[in-house]
Amino acid sequence: MREAFVLALDLGTTGVKAAALGRSGALLASAYRAYPTASQGPRVEQDPRDWENASLEALREVSSSTGGRPEALALTGQMQDLILVCEGGGDLVGGASLGPAILYSDTRARAEAEEIALAYGRDRLLLEARNPHDASGLAPKLLWMSRNASLLYSSAGHLLLGAHDHLAYRLCGRAATDPTTASTTGLLDYDSGTWNLGLLKALGLRTDFLPEIVGSDEIVGRLQARAAALTGLPIGLPVIHGCGDAGSTTLGSGAGEEGRLSINLGTSGWLALTRDSGALDSSKGIYNLRHPDGRRLIVIGAPATAAGNLDWFRDLACPAMDRAAAFELLNAEASRARPASLLYLPYLAGERSPFTDGDARAAFIGLGRESGRGELARAVMEGVAFSLRSVRDALWDGAREGEARGGTVVGGGARSALWCRILASALGCELKVPTSPGDAGVRGAAFLAGRALGWHSGWELPQSYLPVDASYPPDQEWARAYEGLYGPYRGLQASLGPAWKALAAGRPGSTS
Ligand code: ADP
Repeated sequence: MREAFVLALDLGTTGVKAAALGRSGALLASAYRAYPTASQGPRVEQDPRDWENASLEALREVSSSTGGRPEALALTGQMQDLILVCEGGGDLVGGASLGPAILYSDTRARAEAEEIALAYGRDRLLLEARNPHDASGLAPKLLWMSRNASLLYSSAGHLLLGAHDHLAYRLCGRAATDPTTASTTGLLDYDSGTWNLGLLKALGLRTDFLPEIVGSDEIVGRLQARAAALTGLPIGLPVIHGCGDAGSTTLGSGAGEEGRLSINLGTSGWLALTRDSGALDSSKGIYNLRHPDGRRLIVIGAPATAAGNLDWFRDLACPAMDRAAAFELLNAEASRARPASLLYLPYLAGERSPFTDGDARAAFIGLGRESGRGELARAVMEGVAFSLRSVRDALWDGAREGEARGGTVVGGGARSALWCRILASALGCELKVPTSPGDAGVRGAAFLAGRALGWHSGWELPQSYLPVDASYPPDQEWARAYEGLYGPYRGLQASLGPAWKALAAGRPGSTS
């Protein structure tokens, strides 16, 4: 007999993935449906009806291919959206959303963000929300709506904050969000875990339409008749609210326990880890998100350019070559170069974490006549590894460094075994490359469903949930070489501010 299973739905930025996962974490079936994004100037919008239709279709496909009766449906999705819905829209009979959803990447409320920082105080905002304040936040967007779409704003029954909040409302009729999503909005008083009503009142914004905050492993409701008919799923199926995608991806990549790392070595990357306590200073671009357990934190730092540094170098060093062949050549040459023979500072487009300097730029230090393409390519990989280590150190204070545990690495750079080994050696811990990193969101959601069903007690992802492609322990010799160069890397970064400022002054478009 087949093992019991759950369904999970991840509403991402470009489409929705539905999946069926067995109690042991095995992926039994999955389906994907894309939806469009409307971008115009600073505006970035999606239609919640597209989310809904794509989700119902993807669920239908998965439920017909698995057959049988799932134990629950868990949700996750993009966070920090502004979604206004009408009262009583919590079924699939009529429409619910009032206008398009304004996505986190929409920057139309830049002026309002500045205005709020001046009126309320930037430091106070950072201290209360424990997250950077800019136009992606909900307070600036709500202020914009109250002035430019006042009818929609004033007539809305509920404000929702994530694509999964919207689907939960439509499937079960409950207007709710989860602690992880709430903590990204700037509307949460982080330390108390409750809505920052003082901020909303000070800005003259509504406080009567905020969603209820429910636990990410809580049953938010049960599938209503129409949703059941449209998906082929049983009426009354428990729906687990789940959490915003940063939370479920962290859980789904095995980083839900203290000190575990989750790294994305993409064009611009990020490094996240779970801390038991102690929100960090957000002025250096560090995000403090509430862990899906509602108690601990997921802290995240995102260097402005990560693997994108190697893209730049590839274009420069192998101009006429096919992309894949050029990466292969650079990896082969770099693997023959001596570790730590050059130093590279990976700030091609300024830096935002763990220090903020828009004028910062990249540099090679230590070039000699003997420096060839392989030495330079290796230095680029090592420089990115140092940058991620400095983010890790900012997120995980030096005193506990020795206890830092391993983690996973995903993103395009993880295709390079050399780069993974360099990163593991620079961080001093083992890194794993998961087999299907794109499934981390649905795995995390399925794990939350499993918690709701009493299948798991802790927050550690069972090993069977995370198939691994390759594991990279640190190379002891490289680790020693990197330890010797990391201090000088930090020193150079800290001392170059005046040079970057002077160079910026001469750049076209500079106003100084
Ligand atoms: P994005 O972050 O833009 O969504 P990816 O996660 O696919 O995209 O990451 C792209 C990055 O992966 C590129 O910047 C490139 O430097 C890096 N990359 C891709 N393939 C390789 C490779 N074989 N070796 C090293 N780096 C690679």
